[in-house]
Amino acid sequence: MNVQKIMVIGAGQMGSGIAQVCAQAGYSVLLNDLKQEFVDRGLSVIKKNLNRQVEKERMTAQQMEEILNHLTPSTELTDAKDVDLIIEAAVENMEIKTKIFGQLDEIAPAHAILASNTSSLPITEIAAATKRPEQVIGMHFMNPVPVMKLVEIIRGLATADEVYQTIEDITKTLKKVPVEVNDFPGFVSNRVLMPMINEAIFTLYEGVATKEAIDEVMKLGMNHPMGPLTLADFIGLDTCLYIMETLHEGFGDDKYRPCPLLRKYVKAGWLGKKTGRGFYEYE
Ligand code: NAD
Repeated sequence: MNVQKIMVIGAGQMGSGIAQVCAQAGYSVLLNDLKQEFVDRGLSVIKKNLNRQVEKERMTAQQMEEILNHLTPSTELTDAKDVDLIIEAAVENMEIKTKIFGQLDEIAPAHAILASNTSSLPITEIAAATKRPEQVIGMHFMNPVPVMKLVEIIRGLATADEVYQTIEDITKTLKKVPVEVNDFPGFVSNRVLMPMINEAIFTLYEGVATKEAIDEVMKLGMNHPMGPLTLADFIGLDTCLYIMETLHEGFGDDKYRPCPLLRKYVKAGWLGKKTGRGFYEYE
């Protein structure tokens, strides 16, 4: 299938990164969010990223302009009427995602593929909100999108082979490495990563060590590029909590219970780097 026009739903940290790499690869990209100010915030992050590339002489100012010209702001889902691929990166909440997919199914052309960047929610359930489950697939980018190479590609129960192949090919055009996984809660990445982060939060909660010490142990001892609490702040503590809840509910196993301290931070609005405060404080 020939994909030329892509719509990205959600202009937050993931959606803006996905829109950026798609525009850089030459696709025509609609960046959608609920309000114009959210779209503008996403676009200004992209501009800042690209400006940095120009300053480092990795691209010219003209190349930057060309990439920005590939991006069109959108606040209406009806803009999906003539796109070939939609990549949804709204908040990690099943109710919100199924509502979006149900609406997109009505609006998008029959050939369009509907992909979700969900970190953990079942693709099969998201697909069931549409009348085209064979054209629904998971496309799980890593954060920060412009830097990280991996895209976990998740086959829902009904995902067609041609759709999988198209998405694998598109991922390669974005200069990313696709890895195929099946649809189980948390897929591979977050099933392995998130319980480790949750356990790090438990060690803080139980006073085993300070946040700095926990991060230092994992950095120096396990050769992780950043400690698990810093990483949780980067991912967003609300997203971490949603993922733990998805694992807990999906497997029905208490080993995935979210740490009460994680819940407390999310209730306080301390969501990590994106709100200026999580386990650490940010400017
Ligand atoms: P975020 O909070 O930064 O951004 C979410 C955006 O979605 C917000 O701008 C919000 O206004 C918008 N939104 C909410 N409802 C919407 C709707 N109905 N229509 C259009 N836009 C809507 O969150 P994020 O970190 O970018 O995460 C987005 C998705 O990507 C989640 O599913 C998350 O699990 C997944 N993800 C996150 C990470 C990460 O490290 N943060 C990594 C991989 C995948």
